[in-house]
Amino acid sequence: MADFQQHLSGALRQLRQANGWSLTLTAERTGVSKAMLGQIERGESSPTVATLWKIATGFNVPFSFFIDGSALPVGTASGFSQPNAEMSVRSLLPYDPQLRFDLLAVELVAGAQSHSSPHEAGCVEQVVVIEGELLLGIGDVWRRLLTGEAFQFRADVLHSYRNPLSTPLRFHSLIHYLQRPDVTN
Ligand code: MN
Repeated sequence: MADFQQHLSGALRQLRQANGWSLTLTAERTGVSKAMLGQIERGESSPTVATLWKIATGFNVPFSFFIDGSALPVGTASGFSQPNAEMSVRSLLPYDPQLRFDLLAVELVAGAQSHSSPHEAGCVEQVVVIEGELLLGIGDVWRRLLTGEAFQFRADVLHSYRNPLSTPLRFHSLIHYLQRPDVTN
């Protein structure tokens, strides 16, 4: 089992135990299938970024809960990427329970697209394009953001990220969990 898979396995187990949720209830609350959850807990699967987001939202924990370097085994990069993955995410700062934000560095390979399920209620996201071009879909509306441009949107709806170019796309995503209960993880 790779270090990161092992970390995810422990993190999911810890969340389920802390909440007293069965696999069945966890599947209901996260929208991720029981089979997939079981695979993650056994360290047999490297879930996509989109799947990890669903789990984080279902448990009401910040996305960085899964990729924050402070919680990872020593020597593990504080990022989330998998072989052949179209999208990878790194956490640039540890989650701040007072300010309730995550600062994520996201990369999409040429031509890639990722659909994101709604983040938790009231969640606001700010994206800043660092390199390349981002097509950002919110509901039915697509918006083109060029290098250096930024946009803010309510992220508690379906949204999509697309890299329309044949070169890599890098952007930063600042996630504000405005209505998170005041708990630390
Ligand atoms: Mn998002």
